[in-house]
Amino acid sequence: MIRFLNPLGVLKEVFEQEYPDYNCEVHFVENQKNSLGETFFPDDGGDPIIQIGAEKTIPQMLDIMAHELAHVVAGITAEHGKEWENIYNNIYKVYQYRMGIREKKT
Ligand SMILES: [Zn+2]
Repeated sequence: MIRFLNPLGVLKEVFEQEYPDYNCEVHFVENQKNSLGETFFPDDGGDPIIQIGAEKTIPQMLDIMAHELAHVVAGITAEHGKEWENIYNNIYKVYQYRMGIREKKT
């Protein structure tokens, strides 16, 4: 048996715990062109879709996923303003706490 502590899986759990009312899909995409990651908000109001470059390192993927999850919560108009930044910081702090990197959640 392997006790497999998947960092991206822990980040997923943190998001679901902190923001249970939000849904999205996360796709790992090969040969993504211009960016590290992107979040698409479908015109039909469907769940946002996050794309992460599959060739990135795990630390890069973690940062990209936290960044894009903050966009899912902050919404399409928030860009990288204070609201987005607060959500991003919260996701990362709780993640670090869960991974044992940080002693307190805040
Ligand atoms: Zn962004």
